[in-house]
This record gives sequence, structure tokens and C-alpha cells, in this order.
Amino acid sequence: MKVRTRVAPSPTGDPHVGTAYIALFNYCLAKKHGGEFILRIEDTDQVRSTRASEDMILSALNWCGIEWDEGPDKGGPHGPYRQSERSELYQEHAQKLLDSGHAFRCFCTQERLGEMRAKQREAGEFQGYDGHCIGISADESAERAKTEEHVIRMKVPREGTCVIDDHFRGDIEIEWATVDMQVLVKSDGLPTYHLANVVDDHFMDITHVMRGEEWISSAPKHQLLYEYFGWEMPQLCHLPLLRNPDKSKLSKRKNPTSILYYERMGFLPEALLNYLGMMAWTMPNEEEKFTLEEMVENFDLDRVSLGGPVFDTEKLTWLNGRYIREDHTPAQLFDRLTEWKFNREYVEPILEMALKRTERLSDLEPLVSHFFNGHFEYDLEELTGKLETDDALKYLQFGLWRLEALRDWNSEAIMDEFKSLSEAMDVKLRDLLKPFFVAMSGKTVSTPLFDTLAVLGPDMSRARVREAINQLGGLGKKKLKKLEKEYSAFG
Ligand code: GLU
Repeated sequence: MKVRTRVAPSPTGDPHVGTAYIALFNYCLAKKHGGEFILRIEDTDQVRSTRASEDMILSALNWCGIEWDEGPDKGGPHGPYRQSERSELYQEHAQKLLDSGHAFRCFCTQERLGEMRAKQREAGEFQGYDGHCIGISADESAERAKTEEHVIRMKVPREGTCVIDDHFRGDIEIEWATVDMQVLVKSDGLPTYHLANVVDDHFMDITHVMRGEEWISSAPKHQLLYEYFGWEMPQLCHLPLLRNPDKSKLSKRKNPTSILYYERMGFLPEALLNYLGMMAWTMPNEEEKFTLEEMVENFDLDRVSLGGPVFDTEKLTWLNGRYIREDHTPAQLFDRLTEWKFNREYVEPILEMALKRTERLSDLEPLVSHFFNGHFEYDLEELTGKLETDDALKYLQFGLWRLEALRDWNSEAIMDEFKSLSEAMDVKLRDLLKPFFVAMSGKTVSTPLFDTLAVLGPDMSRARVREAINQLGGLGKKKLKKLEKEYSAFG
């Protein structure tokens, strides 16, 4: 049997380093065994999924050096590779489950479900569907479905224990009573992740499902669906989650998580990939610097380690330094540098901002240097301007929270966010923006703020705000609590 693995990102944001990490391990497993690695786009969440995000994920994985054999951009014998283009297949299979009595239509209103949950919460019970519609006869259900809004849920045993076989962990026992009667098809007729994921893994002949451990709790539902369909289940392998240095789950609130950020900071793709490999894997000779080919050659599921891997930018920087120094002559480094610094796509929008203020080419460098720098040593007086330090800190932190919540990263959306914040805080927009202006550029004269943030991207912008806060002395737990309170008063 040919090994076939996949990575299945949801295109709902910036390309995450965690996606590259999962992709890397799946790639290595497939290639080690002469198999195939597939990229599938899981865009069942129609509200949050965007084509722009999909494009960024594909190009970021490409930049990392990971290649797939089949995918939405490449096609292949098991396509289409975008779930939004496979609706019929899911409908057909939901109908099969209804026909075999393994699923049922649920006509409960949001209101009823809300009340149900509130009661369960109050009583301290497991919060999940209570089976209200499970007893409706097939005929009545079919009749009501013609006129009434409904979802389709899977039946789940209420008693006993489900045993999941995870390659790394052995048997994992989960009580059925803690597994919800999952919605498989939403009221708009589209599938949820669970149905689409199982159907696709089956029809795409996936042999190993290697994904993050946050999916373990979904595994009973998936296993049951395989049983209901009478299909063989792929081998499950749940990789440990990447963590912040404080051991919490890697999150953009604490650390940059976008691959684009690491690219922009001047990390080399081969170093990033190597570092992601180190997260849950060691070479037999324990050498920390290894190429993708070496990782493939030596790959063995039994060498995967589960200890909470910390994604530490300092260690990554150290490894990146080794790649720069050990693998490059000055001439080679020149090529890398030009490729990084002078790619048209990145630089043209920057030049557009600077054009009007330029008379000689030599004027350009100081105007735009902040787009090519990493972090700054800020002049603290410039950072605070006329503000008290505490106020500057407050403005920066409030703005940071707004930026963290922003979904569409473009200059207009950023401007709206700051405008509404300044109104809510009852401070002049100009005053609110000043510390951000310096935080982004390290200077008081620079490119227009909202366009600058748009080009720098969410992770780089947020990292600079965080850095400015730190250099101003940071916010201790107490201060942060106080600010949180004040902030939540107006959102
Ligand atoms: N779409 C899921 C994700 O975003 C895939 C999970 C899986 O691999 O089953 O992580």
C-alpha cells in the first residue's frame, strides 16, 4: 500500500508556522516511503475562508520549500482539492447516514439550544446536544425537512468508552458521554469540518492522518463515521502543539506566528524548515542542523517526540545564523540578500509611499529603511512625545488589542479601527497615533501610518507595538489587569 499523507489547512488567516510544521512531518513520512503528499484546502467555513488566505498559504509553503504532489493549484486524480468544490459528495454521504439511521435531522431552534446549554451549564453537566430530535420518525423527518430549517447530526452512543489508536500514544480512551452529537451538515446544506474531513481522507486514499494534538478530541467522532460508512480508518498520529516560551499554545498574541513575518525578518526558509523539524524530531546522530533531504532519509515515526516543543525565536535566530555563516560565500549571500530585499512585489508599494518625498535616490534609504529592519532601539522621548509614559503605554496596548482582533488587514480597515478607538477613548486621533508612528518606523518622519502597517503585515506590526511597550518599561500583571478593565468598558 502506498503511503499517502496530507496537510489540510483552513484558509482563514495568515499562513501559520504550525501549518508548515504539520506539512513538513507529513511530507517527510510520505517521501520516506516513496509515497505522496497532498495539500487540501478545508474551506467549509464560508464566512471566514478567503481565496487571498489560500493563496498566501500556498505561496508561504512553497517559500519554505515544501512541495505537494496533488493540490488545488496542481490538480491530481483525487480532485477537486478544495472542499467548497466537493459539496455533492458530502450531501450524498450525509444522505447515506440518514438512510442507515446513523444520523438524524435536528429541527431545534437556536433559542431552544441556547436554553438547553444554559440549563446544562447551571447543573454542571456535559454541554452537548440532548437528543431532543433523535426519536422523530424517518417519514416525519423527511416531511418536515421540506419546509423547516434543520441540521443533520450524527448519532453517538451515550455510554461506554471509545478507544482511539494513536500511533504515538497508543490507545487513548475517551468516554462516549463526553462526545457531542456533532452537526455534520449545517442548515445551509454545507458540511462541517468533521464530515468533509472523513469523506475526503477516505476518497483521497489517505493512509496516515498526521495533525496537531488539538484534534484528538474529535477523533471519536471521526472513528465512528468510518465505522458507519464501513471504511477503514487511516492511522492517526497526533503531533504535539507548538508552544510559546511560557509553554502556552503558540499564539499570535504572544509571538509572531505568520510565516510571512519570519520571511520578512530575514530568516532563510531552509533554517525555518530545519527548526520546525527540530520541534518534534531528532536526527539519529543528534545533529541539530539538517536539510530536508536528510530529514526525509532518516525519518521514522518512532523518532517523533511528544514533549511540548517550544518555538523559540532566539534558538531559531541562532540556527539561522549557522545557515548564513556556514553555507554562504559573500557572493552567495549577496544573491540571497537581493532576492530578499529587492523583490518587486514587496518593494513597489513601499516606493509608491516614498516617491513624492524623493529628490535623489539617496533620499530613499532613510525614508524606507524601516521596511527592511527588524526591531529598533527606540528613542523613548520620541515614542512618548508629549504623552505621559503611562498614557503612551495605554494607547499602544489598546491599539494592539484592536489590531489583534482585526480580520481584514488593509489600510482602510486599520484606519477605521484607530478612528473608532480614538472616539471610544475620547482622545484626538492624532494624539493616539503618534506613539504608533514611532513604533512602526523608529523615527518621527516616515511613511503614512496606515499604509505602513498594511505593508508590514499583522505580525510585524504587532511585534513592533509589543517591542515599543517593552522598551517603555512594559506592563506588569497589575497594570495590564487595570487596562483590560478599562478597555472592556468600551471594547
Ligand atoms: N482543517 C483542519 C485544520 O485547520 C485540519 C485538521 C486535520 O488535519 O484533520 O487544522
